[in-house]
Amino acid sequence: MNKQERRQLIEQEIVKCSRCGNCRSICPVFLAENNENTTPRSKARLLEAVLENDIELTAGVQQRFEKCLFCKACLTHCGSGVATDKVILAARTAAAERNGISPMKKLAFTGLRYRKLFDLCLRAGALFQHVIFKKLPDGRGRAPRILLPGAGLNQRRIMPDMTVSPLRTRLPEFIPAKKADSQGTVLFFTGCMLNYFYPQTGDAVVNILTANGWNVVIPAEQCCCGTPAFTSGDEATGRVLAEQNVQAIGSKKYDHIVTACASCGAALKEEYAHILGDSPLLAASQNVAGKVLDITQFVLQHCDLTKLGKVPLKVTYHDPCHLVRGMQVSAEPRQILQSIPGLEYVEMKDASRCCGAGGSFSAVYYELSRHINDKKLDNAANTGTDYCITGCSSCRMHITDGLTQRHSPMKVLHTAEIISMAYEAGGKEGETC
Ligand code: SF4
Ligand code: SF4
Repeated sequence: MNKQERRQLIEQEIVKCSRCGNCRSICPVFLAENNENTTPRSKARLLEAVLENDIELTAGVQQRFEKCLFCKACLTHCGSGVATDKVILAARTAAAERNGISPMKKLAFTGLRYRKLFDLCLRAGALFQHVIFKKLPDGRGRAPRILLPGAGLNQRRIMPDMTVSPLRTRLPEFIPAKKADSQGTVLFFTGCMLNYFYPQTGDAVVNILTANGWNVVIPAEQCCCGTPAFTSGDEATGRVLAEQNVQAIGSKKYDHIVTACASCGAALKEEYAHILGDSPLLAASQNVAGKVLDITQFVLQHCDLTKLGKVPLKVTYHDPCHLVRGMQVSAEPRQILQSIPGLEYVEMKDASRCCGAGGSFSAVYYELSRHINDKKLDNAANTGTDYCITGCSSCRMHITDGLTQRHSPMKVLHTAEIISMAYEAGGKEGETC
């Protein structure tokens, strides 16, 4: 699809908007700020004015399009079916082409294009993180020693530890199933957060898959899924990364692709088809999209739930936006959690409401993202549970930050980790029978 065709599509979306205002009642940014300028309908109207040359796409106008979490909640509340996410993305892309993006983002996204260099920088960063970040005594992560506004780091923000031994460096490319008669091969797309910050989630995914008789292949050439870049309007980097990943995945033999990061999964399944619209790799990306499953979908469809052992924890669940509205995964994690013997599950109010992370949104608008997160923490606390389970590392990081600042004893775990614990418990129970 060329630029003109894309412009026509966006114009068609904008004219669908009846200005009814339904989207106001669900937009977390509007609910936090009560400012009409932040509403989805206002953003659609603003882009319309830009396209009609009534106003210029200045840096100030660009900022208004940046105040969005990309949570997609407005899509589900729009009776006219306006694809507000596409409208906002188109505006950000046009603004980035005209005005550029912040120097920090530009540096980071340029680094992402060079996988080996990026990997080297993050591993060096892990070695020297103690210089800038002090470790918290309760083991929940690290807090900046100094104010780092240029990096979008508020001094009270708690970050996870960066591992000196990233998942993809530590694990071989091919991991055989733990059972002699393998069921097939799963390609595991790890994403960056699991690789560099939460490798224990990656270990849990591998454990689940191999324990259920699946071989695992983890392509070494995979890189960032590109979501941070293309959602910031840097479509060129998003495209480079999408092409690298489609080629890396295409070079392997596999039956299914599994992700444990909502943004990676949504990118592979939905976004690459748009980004690679006129690329020779479009057909290959559509083949990839058809094979992608979130780890909870995979467990429900291809793993043995009768082998889950006892996990005596009281838990609630937070729906990551890109999982519930990006990949339409909502019932699966709940069904699995409720199948784990000894586990007590309590649904929280507004579980699918955005936690306020929104990728770089929480770096640029930290106080606002904390304000949005407060509602999530209140709802989680009202369940009286000890653990908040979620399927996205970015949500995990943001919720952990809020819980730590509240001195809450509640902990956050990835869904894959609790499923893996249940399979390990099931294995031990089997040995003692
Ligand atoms: S709900 Fe849809 S139609 Fe109504 S104002 Fe929002 S974007 Fe426009
Ligand atoms: S995607 Fe979320 S934050 Fe952005 S306009 Fe829609 S509801 Fe608001």
